[in-house]
Amino acid sequence: MFKEEYSQMVVVKDIEVYSMCEHHLLPFFGKAHIAYIPNGHIVGLSKIPRVVEAYSRRLQVQERLTNEIRDCIQKTLAPLGVAVVIECKHLCMSMRGIQKQNSVTTTSAFTGAFANERTRSEFLTLITASLD
Ligand SMILES: [Zn+2]
Repeated sequence: MFKEEYSQMVVVKDIEVYSMCEHHLLPFFGKAHIAYIPNGHIVGLSKIPRVVEAYSRRLQVQERLTNEIRDCIQKTLAPLGVAVVIECKHLCMSMRGIQKQNSVTTTSAFTGAFANERTRSEFLTLITASLD
């Protein structure tokens, strides 16, 4: 954790998620997009994927995984706000029929400044924008 005056949104997107559904003992995998708004402190950017990895490594449900990542960042950094969006394919869903083969489950969790609709939509715009 570093002291830093930067107070705009920091977004880390397309973090790989690979976890295991605790109901069906089958993998689910996809991407996580995470943002926070610093409150005097920033964190090394590689720490954020490591939080995702740490919580993915156990049996999970996607909803709880989303909340746990949010709570961990909120507790550790005490930022002005945290946003977490996770999009995953669940093998337990795809195995139940061809129609659901490509369905993606999206979960999200927010704190603080992200309760504000404009802040939240800035985040959603940033995670859907591509570099090219
Ligand atoms: Zn499942």
